[in-house]
Amino acid sequence: MFDDNKVIAAIATAQAAGGVGMIRVSGDDAMEICDKVFTAASGNKLVSSKGYRAHFGRVHDPDGDIDDCVALVFKAPHSYTGENVVELSCHGGLYVLKRALRAVLSAGASPARAGEFTERAFLNGKMDLTQAEAVMDLIGAQGKQAADAALTALDGTLSRKIDENTQKLVNICAHLSAWVDYPDEEIEELETDEMLSTIDEVENALEKLISTYDSGKVLTQGVKTAIVGRPNVGKSTLMNMLVGSQRSIVTSYAGTTRDVVEDTVTLGGISLHLSDTAGIRKSEDPIEAIGVDIAKDRLRKSEFVIAVFDGSEELAKEDMEVLEFCKDKLCLGVINKTDLDTKNIKDVISEYIETLVEISAEKLDGKDELEKAVEKLLETDRIDTSAAMLTGERQYLSTVEALNCVKEAKNALEYGLTLDAVNVSLDCAIEKLLELTGKKASEAVVNEIFSQFCVGK
Ligand code: GDP
Repeated sequence: MFDDNKVIAAIATAQAAGGVGMIRVSGDDAMEICDKVFTAASGNKLVSSKGYRAHFGRVHDPDGDIDDCVALVFKAPHSYTGENVVELSCHGGLYVLKRALRAVLSAGASPARAGEFTERAFLNGKMDLTQAEAVMDLIGAQGKQAADAALTALDGTLSRKIDENTQKLVNICAHLSAWVDYPDEEIEELETDEMLSTIDEVENALEKLISTYDSGKVLTQGVKTAIVGRPNVGKSTLMNMLVGSQRSIVTSYAGTTRDVVEDTVTLGGISLHLSDTAGIRKSEDPIEAIGVDIAKDRLRKSEFVIAVFDGSEELAKEDMEVLEFCKDKLCLGVINKTDLDTKNIKDVISEYIETLVEISAEKLDGKDELEKAVEKLLETDRIDTSAAMLTGERQYLSTVEALNCVKEAKNALEYGLTLDAVNVSLDCAIEKLLELTGKKASEAVVNEIFSQFCVGK
């Protein structure tokens, strides 16, 4: 089926030294190939294994033994890929694993492309495209909610929701086609009201799914976050507190953060892609002015703003500019330097920013409050990770297109257009939904999705 079902192999564990490392081998002749490089202590061959058993032995090449090894045998179709699979687990040294992989390749396997194991699982009907994407989301998950949501999708919750609605549209289409194409047969005409009610159900379901994308995106892709504030309020110190290392240079001179410093931190299970900016003041210094321009750009593109104020000083004109900036943004106000004598700046800030936390970035004080405030503002504490959710742009766009076609079909029905016109729009909706689950996805789409995987998965 795949290049004469060639056997593919790759290191499936991380490319770093670890306690255990695993080479995955998949394809018809996986056992035969592994028998050339693996000798079980029992003397039994993997080809004669009943499967679902661990065989202890040694992996070797023509130069000699490489390492102790446990070979796990899975038989088609009950394996990850749906093919015969052998997983060779050795000690997780990179040299050992690479040498063992070379031995497997010399014995007749081909190197697996990125995502090729999961692609085979998809092509063998072990999972649909949304589940394959869930595998990727699960690998990339940074927190409990992201992992829970990915697992829900991997279980097929999203696929079932899509299938259920596709089926409803297919039923109408099948009936309409039969009725239009075979006028002589006594096929009962579908009542417009009945069709409209089913189409309404699908429309509502798709709208509900689309409304989950904001949460799904936050969970899987994180949030572009700008840390803003006038110079010297403690932006870099805050960034360092969040990142947990001295990334930004901290000095007591205004304007030290000349460039935009970027990093990703996980707060409340959500990835925040932070940019610590050079502030938004005007600068005579040309280098700093570039920093200021970049900062403004980051601020424009950010989805979430953390505005920092110095609690030990009265609000300055530049602070008021920051507050104006924040007005229409999803913004968290941070009053910093609570370890010093503080001024009462809270009341004025509250007029512009609803959620405020008080911290001392230097004393690493207030991180928990900050985390809770972020969760509350991004509403991640309220995401239902057990429900069907759209997580990727591809899923979102296909669902939006399907919804548009459903709306067209509804309009056609309501305006009394021909049933042919209704049928065409419903067909288009079905097509988009089948693309979403991959039942009718083009090769280009499938290739694009799996190329984003890592090798070995
Ligand atoms: P930025 O210009 O906004 O990035 O400010 P920095 O992070 O560079 O901090 C400016 C100065 O304020 C440095 O001397 C920091 O050590 C100091 N600073 C930052 N946070 C705190 C804090 O929580 N308490 C005190 N006392 N000083 C702080």
